[in-house]
Amino acid sequence: MAQVELLGEVTKFVEGSPQMMIGGRRTGAASGKTFEAVDPSSGKAFAEVPRGEVADVDAAVAAAREAFEDRRWTGLRPGKRAEILFKLGELIKGHGAELAQIEALDSGKPVKIASGEMWAAGDVFRYYSGWPTKIYGETMPSDDSLFVYSLREPAGVCGGIIPWNFPLVMAAHKVAPALAFGNTMVLKPAEQTPLTALRLAELSLEAGVPEGVVNVVTGFGEEAGQALARHHDVDKIAFTGSTEVGRKILHESEGNLKRVSLELGGKSPNIVFSDADLRRAAKGSMLGVFMNSGQVCTAGTRILVESSIHDDFVSSLVDATGTMKLGPALSDETGMGPVVSSEQLQRVTGYIEIGKSEGAELVTGGNRAQELGDGYFVEPTVFTGVNNEMIIAQEEIFGPVAAVMEVADVDEAIAVANDSIYGLAAAVWTTDLSKAHRVARGINAGTVWVNTAGLYDPAVSYGGYKQSGFGRELGKHSMETYTQTKSVWVSLK
Ligand code: NDP
Repeated sequence: MAQVELLGEVTKFVEGSPQMMIGGRRTGAASGKTFEAVDPSSGKAFAEVPRGEVADVDAAVAAAREAFEDRRWTGLRPGKRAEILFKLGELIKGHGAELAQIEALDSGKPVKIASGEMWAAGDVFRYYSGWPTKIYGETMPSDDSLFVYSLREPAGVCGGIIPWNFPLVMAAHKVAPALAFGNTMVLKPAEQTPLTALRLAELSLEAGVPEGVVNVVTGFGEEAGQALARHHDVDKIAFTGSTEVGRKILHESEGNLKRVSLELGGKSPNIVFSDADLRRAAKGSMLGVFMNSGQVCTAGTRILVESSIHDDFVSSLVDATGTMKLGPALSDETGMGPVVSSEQLQRVTGYIEIGKSEGAELVTGGNRAQELGDGYFVEPTVFTGVNNEMIIAQEEIFGPVAAVMEVADVDEAIAVANDSIYGLAAAVWTTDLSKAHRVARGINAGTVWVNTAGLYDPAVSYGGYKQSGFGRELGKHSMETYTQTKSVWVSLK
């Protein structure tokens, strides 16, 4: 497959030893330590990144605290903050080609898909640039002797801890609302994909965000991540990642009782009824589970199909899966890239072996794609004959593995869909409007898609039920997690 040629800016950035951003200064780790950024398409290291630890987190939090207390950001005219956030969104889009190549190298996602994501990340800043001018307090009821009002104020210094599956988009989900509502931020990107967050910090300075407002510390979860979550001068943590680490974040945050919002794992049901448009449902279900090599927290990995159409649907699903072109991230022809790391490769192929040993039937895929060399490629894989007690139906695999189950009717579909510790998202495919609404109400999840899957918009709130987390990101609901209200009582006597 023909490789896309790397842009000069990309080569310069990765070869110029990418640096963290603390207090508006590009800097290495205090210890001088680094770790390798590895290209999942080849398994080879291509850059050295600072390995931030406690001292670096302390410095970043101190910078964010100073920037918050002296009001260099939150004290600006709201229209000015709006202008800067809008400009940052435009800069991200303007640098889209460069950022997409960096993201493709770092995460393994196909470059054409990464391009769309860079656009989406820019859109998050554009959307939130509308908010600084629309943050209102209230006038409270009182008698004539009093004037009582509320102020909606920023939470303070926010920590953002993010995963590797959508690196720049996740960074935008944390930084854009935090800044829109007047906070300052320390961001800790995932060790597998630290690079676009570092470029984001540089672009934020170029857009006019004051120094110290956006700080980025790269490093490992047990070092930099833990130090940030434990830090007594951090007021709020916004975390996206696994449910297991989400639990740790809660414990780590308890020292100063900081506020926490958690966007965690999922095992989303994708329900196909016999009255659905079968080809559309098959293609949508296929994309819903294999997009981003299945490394999507809302991926519809439990495909529940009404028994009467099971065989026809599976055959359409396998046909649709065959159109997913597996290949290296930096090829324009690739539809599905490698998984992010050798660890993830072991994890996903391990689950495939579990599926086989549990007695599920493998109808397509099931192997590492050896012909693609040392990269971490896994074939898109479909199991049928799955029941909801199996491990492959209950645990988040976070790779290109679908588990198809038969259901008899709407009631069984809702019951099986809800029989999970997770509740992040669901999709339902039907041409019967009342059935669609009934299922949407019956499912315990933060998002339900009807006759579509995976749609997202910065104006639409996002988050989980049950062990998929709490707190809502995006849309107007993120205001609750990034602000606090103060009541002011004034005596008029
Ligand atoms: P994690 O939940 O471990 O990582 C998410 C972020 O948390 C990373 O920045 C990580 O750092 C950091 N982190 C890890 N441990 C701690 C800690 N003790 N304190 C503070 N921060 C910490 O996800 P993984 O990358 O390990 O992936 C494992 C599994 O998690 C996946 O296979 C998948 O099932 C699930 N997952 C779910 C996601 C979702 O969006 N729901 C996203 C990513 C993963 P670092 O990576 O740098 O060590």
